[in-house]
Amino acid sequence: MLDLPAEAASAVSGIWVATTKADHIFVAPGAAGLLRVNIVLHEVSHMLLGHGKVGGDVEEAMRRLLGLSVTGMAARSRYETVEERDAEKLATLILTRAHTPPEGGDEGLRKIGKTFGYDLGGDDA
Ligand SMILES: [Zn+2]
Repeated sequence: MLDLPAEAASAVSGIWVATTKADHIFVAPGAAGLLRVNIVLHEVSHMLLGHGKVGGDVEEAMRRLLGLSVTGMAARSRYETVEERDAEKLATLILTRAHTPPEGGDEGLRKIGKTFGYDLGGDDA
C-alpha cells in the first residue's frame, strides 16, 4: 500500500494496479483512519470480484509508465459503473462484518482488525 502521487490524488482516491509479480494499492495521501480502510477495501473488492482486466493500449502505456507488466487495474473515483457500485458494496459488507465479530471472536477478523489498527476484542495470542 502506497500513497498516490499528488497529481493523481486530485482525480481519484485509490488505485489498484496488478502486475505479474504483485498487487499494488495506492491511496490518496490525505486519506486517514476509516476512510483509508474503506479505500483499501474497495480496491481489494475489485481484486476479489475479478474486475480491472486490462490489455492492449492500456497495458502497453502502463508498462512504459511503470516499467511493469500490468495485468489489472481499477481506480476509485465515483460510483457510476456497475463494477464501482459492486466494489463499494463488498467493501461496505467486509467493513460491517469486521465491526461485528461473532460471539466468541474470530481469529481472521482479529488479524484484519490488528492490521488496520482496530481492536475487535478477544485474544490475539
Ligand atoms: Zn473502484
